[in-house]
Amino acid sequence: MSTSGDGSGQSIVFRNGLVLTMDDQNTVLDRADVLIAGEHIAEVGPDLAVPEGTVEIDAAGGIVMPGMIDTHRHMWQTAMRGYGADWTLTQYFVWYYLESGKLFRPEDIYAGNYLAAIEAIDAGVTTTVDWSHGLQTTQHADAAVDALQAVPGRFVLAYGNIQRGPWEWSTSPEFREFVNRRMSSRSDMLGFQMAFDVTGDPAFPEKPAFEVAREIGVPVTTHAGVWGATNDDGIRLMYENGFMTPSTIYVHAATLTPDSYNRIAASGGSVSVSTESEQSAGQGYPTTWQLRNHNIPVSLSMDTSVWWSGDLFSAMRTTLGADRSREHLEAHAVKETITHVHLRAQQVVEWATRGGSKALGLDSVVGSLESGKKADVVLIKNDRSPVMFPILNPYGHVAFQAQRGDVHSVVINGKLVKRDHELVGVDLAVARRNVERTVDYLIGQMGEDAWRKGMNPDIPETKVMDNPYTYTEWDSDAAQWKR
Ligand SMILES: [Zn+2]
Repeated sequence: MSTSGDGSGQSIVFRNGLVLTMDDQNTVLDRADVLIAGEHIAEVGPDLAVPEGTVEIDAAGGIVMPGMIDTHRHMWQTAMRGYGADWTLTQYFVWYYLESGKLFRPEDIYAGNYLAAIEAIDAGVTTTVDWSHGLQTTQHADAAVDALQAVPGRFVLAYGNIQRGPWEWSTSPEFREFVNRRMSSRSDMLGFQMAFDVTGDPAFPEKPAFEVAREIGVPVTTHAGVWGATNDDGIRLMYENGFMTPSTIYVHAATLTPDSYNRIAASGGSVSVSTESEQSAGQGYPTTWQLRNHNIPVSLSMDTSVWWSGDLFSAMRTTLGADRSREHLEAHAVKETITHVHLRAQQVVEWATRGGSKALGLDSVVGSLESGKKADVVLIKNDRSPVMFPILNPYGHVAFQAQRGDVHSVVINGKLVKRDHELVGVDLAVARRNVERTVDYLIGQMGEDAWRKGMNPDIPETKVMDNPYTYTEWDSDAAQWKR
């Protein structure tokens, strides 16, 4: 038995793990193996016989699960990781759309995408939709794709350009040339979508972009129900013009009425919920508590590392918290008590895996650990962590106990890309140098003052309320209030 190498060309077996298959029955196997042969999962079960030369990974004490799937991440923005921690959508629109975002050159798109792609696979996110709306030219788009192809993950390029109307860029000869050149031979390793928003303008100027998407046969992903930006009118226009399809992904869908949710449900589309984003940017309340009532399929996403974290553990955790928080709050408002919550840990693990594969039309390919599917496998295990035992409720463990540092090994398309907490064949130094160059360039273009100002929005004044219970003075000698 070999115990080294990245497993390419070799079989790989995870031994004696607690296996969350995420199959239709949500089968959990207590001490089981997952055998990978070539690009596929060969078998899942206890004590598997394996071919000579199989790479063995000891999964005892750990959880083996399908790779996680992020259906909406602006990967280019990772070049400015953490910069917008104190933003709302107001600063985001000003700085990213009008200021710093405009300055991005193709090499800066590359730098952001490359780092974000590495970050994703390191955290066990094996498929990521690159909601790439900084593609001001097709050279930018080439750079985005080059970066995605330089990292051994599964990606979907969602092509967009916030600097122009979708009716402009999508109908340009350059876009068509790019599609023919880079996207004509799409594979399950690199998918393609079109990414643009629908403003609700009654003239429906986005119509030509939807027609292009229909003509070239790619799904549309759109920020829908974003407070102050997109609303029910956009959904209605899409519906009335026949552009709501089962492959359409509605990102956020937070500020919408039941009528729009009914249209989404009836047309079979899904919602990409970015709870960590919705909670602080202001798109609207994270909407799973409403989507449940409309039976709308959900996938999870992290949106952007310019503000938040980039791992789906955070997405699962915040989504559970936001849903339950709202359920309690709604009940308390009518003097009722919630004794049993609706949203379970199992459900968010499902959304982070099968939710994504279904939304992306990849459910026959990835999303669960079943023989015949492509092998995207994550082992959560950390022998040095006091948080890895006891594992009593495995779904709860994934959602509330584990974190990205516990991602021990990751297989994507049958290839080991992380092993024993170390990325395989990825040079972080290159990613660091690229991003440092981009940051230096952006600061140089914007100037130090503007750069600092962009990161530090004004804090509104907090008016402390009058308090009727004000004592005069604390007498420390007497240890009592002076009267
Ligand atoms: Zn977004």
